[in-house]
Formats: sequence, structure tokens, C-alpha cells
Amino acid sequence: MSLQIKQIPCLSDNYGYLVHDPVSGKTISIDTPDATAILSTLDEEGWALTQIWNTHHHYDHAGGNAELVQKTSCSICAPVGERQMIPGADRYVAGGDVVTLGQYTARVLDTPGHTRGHICYVFDEQNIAFVGDTMFSLGCGRVFEGTPEQMWASLSKLMALPDETLIHCAHEYTKDNARFALTIEPENPDLQARVAQISALREKGQPTVPMRLGLEKKTNPFLRPDSAAIRARLKAGTASDAAVFARVRQLKDEF
Ligand SMILES: [Zn+2]
Repeated sequence: MSLQIKQIPCLSDNYGYLVHDPVSGKTISIDTPDATAILSTLDEEGWALTQIWNTHHHYDHAGGNAELVQKTSCSICAPVGERQMIPGADRYVAGGDVVTLGQYTARVLDTPGHTRGHICYVFDEQNIAFVGDTMFSLGCGRVFEGTPEQMWASLSKLMALPDETLIHCAHEYTKDNARFALTIEPENPDLQARVAQISALREKGQPTVPMRLGLEKKTNPFLRPDSAAIRARLKAGTASDAAVFARVRQLKDEF
């Protein structure tokens, strides 16, 4: 039996995730956007919550921690860089650490940029990544606490994962991101095809997340600072990839 993942729409556009190991019976919650929604999903599935794995301190990611601990006695694993903002965790982790769910192991990646201590969790053997607010479908997180250079380095770490990796991000922002992406690389046929697919999914109220990293690399303008078409449009010349990324991020902030 393999890992079971339950995607939970929360708040206006968040996704929470429960990951369950049927052999050990253990279940983790990736972030805690909405304790009520997470508790009712646990109830429906008949799963008991064992641990919370936080990606970063924002309220729509750690805001349900206290209620879930109180109601389930689960433990919390959180980024060491955000110890002050996520107090009371049982374990603080950083890049290179390994966390376990029964027989399964996930690797922690340091991915600063959106927040200073943001981390991602990667189940390498299963090609599954939980990326919080670092990468979105056709987008990336706003650079609130770090620098664009840090964010580019963080995205580059995720881009180094195998193309078949299923990226689980924390928001359904895809439709807005698609509108922006078409202003950055309108001639990209893979992007055009994907935008059509996204519109069809959203019209049926279906999620566009998770997404395959390989397709993301072909279509997400934030992952494509080496694209000749994007460089030509932005008159970027021989600027570094990080500088081109920073310019795309700035254009999105103003979009
Ligand atoms: Zn956030």
C-alpha cells in the first residue's frame, strides 16, 4: 500500500494536505490553514492526526496548529528559522534534515524568499513535494522577507528534482497566474495549451494542483529566465537568470 494524500480546499483559495500511511496508520497535516476543515476530513477518512509539518509561519499555514494539537495531541515539526513565529513545536528542522511518516522519509529543503525560514518537504522515492508558498502552478510566492536572489535559488532547488515530481502547492492561484504568464511568454505553445486546460478545469470547479514539475518548467514564466523569448521581451540581454527572475517577479507584483 502506498501513501494516501487528501487535498483539502481551505479558506478562500488555500489547499491543506493530509498524508496518510496505511501501514503504520500515521497521518501528517502539511500546514494547518483551517483546523475545522482538517478535522472534518480526518473524521471522514477515519484517520488520526500524528504530526503537523509546517512550511512557514504565515497564519494561513500555521494558524490551525494550536487547535489541532489541542484536539488530536499531534506533534509539530516546523522550520528552525521561524522558531519565534511558530513557538511550541516538538521538533525544528532545516535543510538536509529527514522527517519520517511510518516507513516513508521526506527530505527538508531550505527555500527562503517568501519568508526567511520557509522550508519544503520532499518524498524523493515517491516523487512528491510539498512546497508551501514557494512555487505555484504558473507562479511563485511573493518575496516578502527574503531577496529575489534567494527566491531564485530556492526555486532552482525545486527545479533540480525529477520532472515527474508532483508539486503540491498551498494555493489555487493558477487562473490569475495564467493571465500573467501569457503577457510574459505568449508565443509559448506549451503555455497556450496549458492555459486552455486550466480554464476547462476551473470551469468545472476542479483543482489545477498538484502539478508535474516537468510541465511547470516548460510553462511557468518564473522558472524560465533562460527563455530567449522572455529575455527578448524584457530586453534582458545577458543579465543573470536571477536578475531576469527578479524582473518577472516585479512585473507580477505590479500586474
Ligand atoms: Zn505564505
